[in-house]
Amino acid sequence: MNMADEKLARAGGHMAKEEFQRAGYAAVDWAARYLDEVRQYPVIPSVRPGELTRRLPERAPENGESVERILEDFQNLIVPALTHWNHPRFCGYFSISSPGPAILAEMLAATLNVNGMLWQSCPALTELELVVASWLRQWLGLPAQFFGMIHDTASTSTLHAVAAARVFKDPEVLEHGHRRELVVYASEHAHSSIDKAVITLGIGRANLRKIPVDSAYRMRPEELEQAIRRDRDAGRVPCCIVATVGTTSVASVDPLVPIAKIARNYDLWLHVDGAYAAAAAILPEFRWVLEGVEDADSIVVNPHKWLFVPIDCSVFYCRRPEILRRAFSLVPAYLRTSTDSQAVNLMDYAVPLGRRFRALKLWFVMRYYGLTGIQGILRNHMAWAQEFAHWVEQDARFEVVAPVLFSLVVFRFKGTDEDNRNLLEHVNRSGKAFLSGTELAGRFVLRLAIGNIGTTREDVRAIWELIQDLACKLSPRG
Ligand code: PLP
Repeated sequence: MNMADEKLARAGGHMAKEEFQRAGYAAVDWAARYLDEVRQYPVIPSVRPGELTRRLPERAPENGESVERILEDFQNLIVPALTHWNHPRFCGYFSISSPGPAILAEMLAATLNVNGMLWQSCPALTELELVVASWLRQWLGLPAQFFGMIHDTASTSTLHAVAAARVFKDPEVLEHGHRRELVVYASEHAHSSIDKAVITLGIGRANLRKIPVDSAYRMRPEELEQAIRRDRDAGRVPCCIVATVGTTSVASVDPLVPIAKIARNYDLWLHVDGAYAAAAAILPEFRWVLEGVEDADSIVVNPHKWLFVPIDCSVFYCRRPEILRRAFSLVPAYLRTSTDSQAVNLMDYAVPLGRRFRALKLWFVMRYYGLTGIQGILRNHMAWAQEFAHWVEQDARFEVVAPVLFSLVVFRFKGTDEDNRNLLEHVNRSGKAFLSGTELAGRFVLRLAIGNIGTTREDVRAIWELIQDLACKLSPRG
């Protein structure tokens, strides 16, 4: 393959085979080296806002460029502005992973570029998606009635849950829009995606009740019931409860059993947001986190959070797929096929028509690690979180401020909010680790979320020593 042919390929048509192989091997070599040496990178970059933009041309190229040139710019321009989410010392938000088998699956999915709108538009995509969702359902101990499919994010999954709940309580909404005042309930610790769902669906934030929590940050069922009664007595239509298994700030678990009972008694849809912590239910000793879920109507769990599948991969389960279908099935003539009555067309259960092959990476990861492999990693993460919490408690300058149920430790330096913000800033600016912060009971607190597949106990220990070190420099009491 000579340069002239490569140029010709860039003028239209596929990259030539030899060129693709050459660049492909180089990209795989780069990826393998990156995964091996990722600790050498600062976890977050030291760039200023707008810095990368200034280094990039204002206009796209007139003529095609060589792939070597593009890879070179990737290395020189993009990499220095990366936050390394795949770094074992990335412990902010909920940390995530992209392991080798998933990277290969993503490459193959991009190669195939199939679109799973309908069974017919790609039987392998549709069937594998249903099969891996079913495999994961079994790992989580969910009943067989739960129909599972994959969305990009938990925000999308929850949007679909609330949309189904809306049709469940007010079928007219499909034709006439809202004529009744629907109300949604979630704890005051629920994720902002619930707010976004009620905004997007036109239910409105004024009709989202934030139910108070107890001292362990769990929704209080008696407060939930009172709120439902108040709305019902006022002529409103209580519609959906969103319970969270693993809240974002502190990973608390709402009590599903009494909440499910209330949902049944008042005929509300119950959605469970288990985006992060429902994954723990694959461990027999953590099955309790989903106790009561068999009475829920839907649940979301994100393999892209704590099941080592790269973003994006959110599995949405619904026990009433017929309602989901009622909410979303519209079949224009150009999408009708001869297999419609025999096969599942995933477009019937969701807003998007186009659907990428996310199931492939979940399949690769589930098969490569197996249940016991993944269980082992989760157990390690949780054991190290307990150890970290113990170290925090042993240092009189710090305190743990929420129960440590999973792999998240919420803690603070016993100083002002400003001290804690400074500490976080110094840890993150060091490039040696990344943590995040949140507010709890009006105070700024720090979050260490273990979740990357490459994290070791030594990483967790090193992060704690870094925090102790920086605390000494920050505080005269240190
Ligand atoms: N629900 C919970 C409990 C979360 O913690 C998060 C994100 O951290 C979300 C939902 C939103 O997840 P996604 O980014 O997949 O929309």
